[in-house]
Formats: sequence, structure tokens, C-alpha cells
Amino acid sequence: MTALEYDRLNIWHPYASLRNPPRVRHARRASGLEIELADGSRLIDAVSSWWCVAHGHNHPAITEAIRRQSEKMCHVMFGGFTHDPAVELAEKLAAFAPPGLDKVFFADSGSIAVEVALKMAVQYQTALGRPEKSRILALKGGYHGDTSLCMSVSDPDGMHTLFGSIMSKQLFADKPSLPFGGEWEDGCASSLRGVFERHGGEIAAVVCESVFQAANAMNFYHPGYLREMRSLCDEYGALLICDEIAAGLYRTGPRWAHEYAGIRPDIMTVGKALTGGHITLAAALASGRVAETISSGKPSAFMHGPTYMANPLACAAAVASLDLFAAGGYGEKASRIGEVFSRSLARAAELPNVRSVRVLGAAAVIETNRLPSAADIDRVIDSHGVWLRPFCNFIYSMPPLVSGDGAVERIAEAMVDLASAPPGPEPEDGDFHE
Ligand SMILES: *Cc1c(COP(=O)(O)O)cnc(C)c1O
Repeated sequence: MTALEYDRLNIWHPYASLRNPPRVRHARRASGLEIELADGSRLIDAVSSWWCVAHGHNHPAITEAIRRQSEKMCHVMFGGFTHDPAVELAEKLAAFAPPGLDKVFFADSGSIAVEVALKMAVQYQTALGRPEKSRILALKGGYHGDTSLCMSVSDPDGMHTLFGSIMSKQLFADKPSLPFGGEWEDGCASSLRGVFERHGGEIAAVVCESVFQAANAMNFYHPGYLREMRSLCDEYGALLICDEIAAGLYRTGPRWAHEYAGIRPDIMTVGKALTGGHITLAAALASGRVAETISSGKPSAFMHGPTYMANPLACAAAVASLDLFAAGGYGEKASRIGEVFSRSLARAAELPNVRSVRVLGAAAVIETNRLPSAADIDRVIDSHGVWLRPFCNFIYSMPPLVSGDGAVERIAEAMVDLASAPPGPEPEDGDFHE
């Protein structure tokens, strides 16, 4: 049996059936912008392997950091121990984060970082003697991860409806409909204000993806919503959690996407590009006020502690990745990628199957009226040598931030080609591409 045959029979892939599994390609190596397949062909990774490979695959500074750390210590439990990679990373991360967010909790994936942030909000309110403030307000169209608390704050009409029976019931405001760059008017955030007016006494925190609702909606929304959230949170004693797992670390241009709004969150989650896509690691960063309040409660301990917390290999990789980010120029790199996308994708707006073309920083989206067919997706990937992973009716790219103009142009050509193909079937219920 070949590896592909064994895989097909026995291994689940993300959001995939084992009875009728989607095609997977056999990856063998990866370097820079490219993934090499077992047959020797190569694909430009236009999705940065789910948005994390910011500096390119197998960046020598990061692989070297992992190798060096592996010679000393691959793992030690974080209960009762600390180590240099964790301390060095916490210091660097705090220096990289907005001022004041210097209390660090290391998690082993983005979803866990979000779980931790939400639990912090509940412990914070409990410590203040407000246990009734135990619900989370989130935005429709959002995505915060696949574990159950994360599902409960992700789009309620999205892929998680299946698990409604085991999920806690949170509160939702309308999906932000005013796009980034639109004209802000009073009343744009009336849905947010309305939920606070009805439920303000129950709200522990608001959680949002700053400016860029990625995995559910590919929606770049007006920073005015974040300013409204900040002021409503202050008015009602709720915490603001900015989930920067997708949008942070320069994906939309600035280091953190909430900088567009000139506000500061109380808790921020970071993941995906943190290790430059080399090994899994995420973190929740809290303000001193949040940390002190939690610590003054009963219990004083913050109640979470994963087995692989602050894994030294992952911390060493993240230190090397942050050093690359700190060396500078990533904001400019993201803007440059955005300019090339804007120019090269402009003609897609005229295509009959295209609803809109949107670009912000190093993220570009063609929203179509109908899903592309699986056959067309395969044809475009193979003929252009560009790895695309459209989902629902979004053909998008979030390439490595080190992509040059030529690579971005090639990706844009593949996207336009796919958007030009005759539309595939109407989406079926539960027909998720992610
Ligand atoms: C991907 C993502 C997560 C979940 O991260 P995982 O590492 O997949 O668990 C959470 N929030 C946002 C905004 C994301 O894009």
C-alpha cells in the first residue's frame, strides 16, 4: 500500500470525511515559498500553510534554533520548572506587544490560547465579586478555534451548529458590515450597543478578531467597531480580548491589526505566525490589571496548565521568529504584497462570477457567487504551480510575508484563473472546504 493509499483509508484530515476523503497531495520537503511533492513538483504556498509560514518554510535561523535547543532539552514540565527559551520569549513577546500586555500564558495551539483568554475573563470577573458576568459577547462571522469554548464564540450559523447541544450559549452582535476604508457613521455599531444594553450585567468580555474576520468570513471591517467595543467594555466593566492569531504579526500591515483602531485590548491572543510556522505555539497576553485581579481572587491561581506548556523547542523557534520580525521591514513587506495583489487582481472584479475583490496588507480575497469546482481547483493548482485552498466562496491568498513581486503576481494569476472558471455546483449543506 502506498502512503497515499494508507492515508486515504485511515487518517482524518481537517474537516474531511473518511468515507469520501478529499484528494490530498504528498508533501516531501518545504523551503522558502515552496512545498515540494513526492513526485518532485513544487507549489508556491499561497496560504502560508494556514497563515503561519511568515518568513518562508524551513527558515535557517528557526530550524537552527530548534536544533540547538534540541541538543540541550526538548521538553520539561512547566509546573515547577522554568527555562531560558520561555523567559527569553516572554520578554521578547512583551516588548513586541502593545505596552502593558506583559503577563504571558503559553499555550500549545491558537484554540487553547483563546480558551485561556476566555477563562481569564471569567476568573477576573469572579475575583471582582461579579460571578454573574460570565458570558462572552462575540461577533457573527467570527472564528476563534475548534475546541468547545472557542466554537461557542465563533459564528453561530457557521460550521459549529452541529455541536449546539454541548456548547455554552454566548451572546452575539451582528457581523460588522461596514468595510475597512468605508465611511463611519453613528449607529454602525448599534447592534453591539444593543447587546450591551440588554445583557451588560452578564458580559465578562468581548472577543473579536481585530479588523480581519478570517476563517469564517474573510471580512476586513472598519476599525470603528473596535473603538466602540473598547468604550462599551469600559462603560460596562467587561474585558476586551483581541484575537490576533490570524491578523497579528503584520498580516494586515501593522504589527497588530487593532493598531488600526488606536485602542488597546486587555487580553490579546497570538499564534499561527508566532514560530513562523515551524512548530505549534500560541500565547495569551494579559495586562497587569487582569493578572493582579485574577491573583487576588479565590483561587488565586489561574486554572489552566497544558502538558506541553512553554515547550522549549517551540519557545526557541518563536524567539528566532520574533528576532526576524524585529529585524524590521515586515510592515512594508505586507504593504508591498498588498499593492501587487491590488494591481494584479483588479481585473477579477469584472468577472461574472465575482462578487467582490478585497485586499488588506498581505491578505487578498476574491469572493465569488458560486463555489469553484474541485476539478477546477486541482487544475489551477497543478497548472500554475500555486497552492490555493479556497473555502466556501472565497478564493484567497495569505502568502509568506517574504514573497517577492513575481511570486505574488503568479499567485494572483492563479486566483484570477480560478475565479474565471465556470462556477461549480451550489454548495450543499455541510459542504465545507476547510
Ligand atoms: C486559527 C485561528 C484560531 C485557532 O488556532 P489553532 O492553532 O488552529 O487552534 C483562533 N483564532 C483565530 C483568529 C484563528 O485564525
